[in-house]
Amino acid sequence: MTTVKTFCRLCEVSCGMVATVEDGRLVQVRPDHDHPVTQGFACKNGLRAVDVHLDPDRVVRPQQRTDAGWIDVSWDDALAGIAARLNDIIAEHGPRSVGIFLGNPNAFNATVGAALMSLAPALGTDRMFSSATQDCTNKYVVSELVYGSMSAQPIPDLDRTELLMLIGTNPRVSKSSYMSVPDPIAALRELRDRGTRVIFVDPLDVEPDIGECVQLRPDSDPYLLAAMLHEIHATVGFHPGALADRIEGLDDVVAFVAPYSPEAVADVVGIPAERIRQLAHDFAAADGAAIHASTGLNMGRQGALAYWLVQMLLLCTGNLDRAGGSFFGARAFPHVPPTVDRSDASFEDTRWGRLRRPIGTMLPSALLPELIDDPDEPLRALIVFAGNPALTVGGGDRLFDALGSLDLLVSVDLYRNATGELGHYVLPATDQFEREDINTFVQGVQRRPFVQWTPPVCTPEGEAREEWRICSDLVRAMGKEPMLDSTLESVIPLMYDGALAPRGLSIEALRDAGGVVTLDEPGPGGSLDRLGLTGAIVCAPEALRSTLERGHALFATMRAEVAGEPDTRFSMITRRTLGSINTWMLNLPGGEEDGAGTPLWMHPDDGARLGLVAGAVATISNERATLEAPVRFDPRLRHGVVAMTHGFGNAATTGMPGAQRRGGVNVNALAPSGPDAFDPVSCMQQITGILVDITAATRTGATAGAST
Ligand code: SF4
Repeated sequence: MTTVKTFCRLCEVSCGMVATVEDGRLVQVRPDHDHPVTQGFACKNGLRAVDVHLDPDRVVRPQQRTDAGWIDVSWDDALAGIAARLNDIIAEHGPRSVGIFLGNPNAFNATVGAALMSLAPALGTDRMFSSATQDCTNKYVVSELVYGSMSAQPIPDLDRTELLMLIGTNPRVSKSSYMSVPDPIAALRELRDRGTRVIFVDPLDVEPDIGECVQLRPDSDPYLLAAMLHEIHATVGFHPGALADRIEGLDDVVAFVAPYSPEAVADVVGIPAERIRQLAHDFAAADGAAIHASTGLNMGRQGALAYWLVQMLLLCTGNLDRAGGSFFGARAFPHVPPTVDRSDASFEDTRWGRLRRPIGTMLPSALLPELIDDPDEPLRALIVFAGNPALTVGGGDRLFDALGSLDLLVSVDLYRNATGELGHYVLPATDQFEREDINTFVQGVQRRPFVQWTPPVCTPEGEAREEWRICSDLVRAMGKEPMLDSTLESVIPLMYDGALAPRGLSIEALRDAGGVVTLDEPGPGGSLDRLGLTGAIVCAPEALRSTLERGHALFATMRAEVAGEPDTRFSMITRRTLGSINTWMLNLPGGEEDGAGTPLWMHPDDGARLGLVAGAVATISNERATLEAPVRFDPRLRHGVVAMTHGFGNAATTGMPGAQRRGGVNVNALAPSGPDAFDPVSCMQQITGILVDITAATRTGATAGAST
């Protein structure tokens, strides 16, 4: 038996782990107590990753769907079949008839860039999709347009902050996103104990023992933030502090927030004007106030507007790059800011409306059915890497039907998930323990920065292969020359040695250091310059103007929604649960809500009002879908808000029998999809704050979890 130091690649914390290996096979993982930063912290999900690795239901050989069902095929046959189909589709419909979809795990896989370098140019397509348009591209686009780089994601100065506002985040379950803190609950308790005021802004009273909660209506974050800015400007004024000379367009901020006094937004936000006013004054007066915003804010109708207002609140109160405020963290790889087009010309016109591609490439996943059914330039093939759009994107049955109608759907994954089940081939990818890696994605957002390299800790199960090798071989099978030779032993040094060099590092140096090297964190003061951001901070560049106008228009819509709410109307938010991680751990037993399917969580007062008792079956419906689920109560929820966990709905996913047994419904069937269902500047669609009607189902608990 040997042990190998590695790190977990399920979330941004990147916990140090020690893997035990016997005869090349992974036996167990445990937290690395000697890790200089994560110091033995690991969560249940990270420790269960070994169960995914060894899951007998995992796909470890290429599979092809035939008339007789799914069969194992050789790599040569799979790649030859896919390549021939791709060549035929491209010959008939053109290269844009092929799309690529990237799921969330790709963010934690440093070799995926090599895969795309090999594949995308060979296909010649610009139709790229990503789960990022479900949960985070609002952050990229705002930082790109305001600061000049999508990598400019401010993190709170947790060591010094006097007031910390946490918007739409549940650190106990999700840890944190774009803010990497080992054991975030312990860190927040420390802040509380040293006297920092911790304020959660969320429809759920997230951690009552740690901090107060401003329990706003879902999806109303932009107007709470706008009202805070309105109040600050009207009373104490804007004080941008040390960055004042670099900020352009504060008048645009003043103009945007002008209509949103605390009184004007109180009914839409669901918070009394006096409390909003007090919150604004407390934030402005704090000797260092910081904000961290996450998916609860990102995934509403206006994630970009809300995140923009977060930046404006930091800037206008002088809390960006100030001790105790928010700042840009240290990185192992020096950042070279790209040239950013902040003009309206960065949008493109499509038959489904104007849009601006985040990360320069991504299209809205909300348009997948439209693109597949496009009579002029249809999408006819989709290659999905570690993704499950069938369940994670809104659209429900229409999306399932559209994906199922493709001429070629290939899933490169650990499981034959719900999307793969609709496809033609499933190709087995290596998991995190079977590939060499480096923690690139979290650079710049770590409280205690470190860079870590890991070797593969075990041999791949079955015939699993790294994505970049698969792509390289596929390109060759299509009769083209791949950019990377799949027989290379490794691409990590090739990709990252140059980027590490200015730090005096290399992959070899990391290996010699035992894998991990900590970095100095100078903290606030000069953090923009250290990120290479020497240009102006532009509050409201031309490319954001339409986002601000949309914000005004949607305020009127939301006010009408609030005024016309029937007693049965609720706003549904996403409930993250331990043990699920979107869709891909659902095959394992031991999830937080095992055996419960997808419960509908509501405040007990709301249950009493509707005559629902715990365990009763409720019908959840809107114009898009009707679902049924068993009722559970959580007094921490705001009245009028219900919560469900997404990623379920695997009744037909024969490749994940464990997930099938867990039951549950596809909550995202209730989410909007199509031309009007995405934010043009970020391409994000609304996944939380969905309006639904709740009634008691006429059926009994035995049928709960069914989709009707
Ligand atoms: S906190 Fe994140 S990185 Fe750490 S063990 Fe859990 S899932 Fe893995």
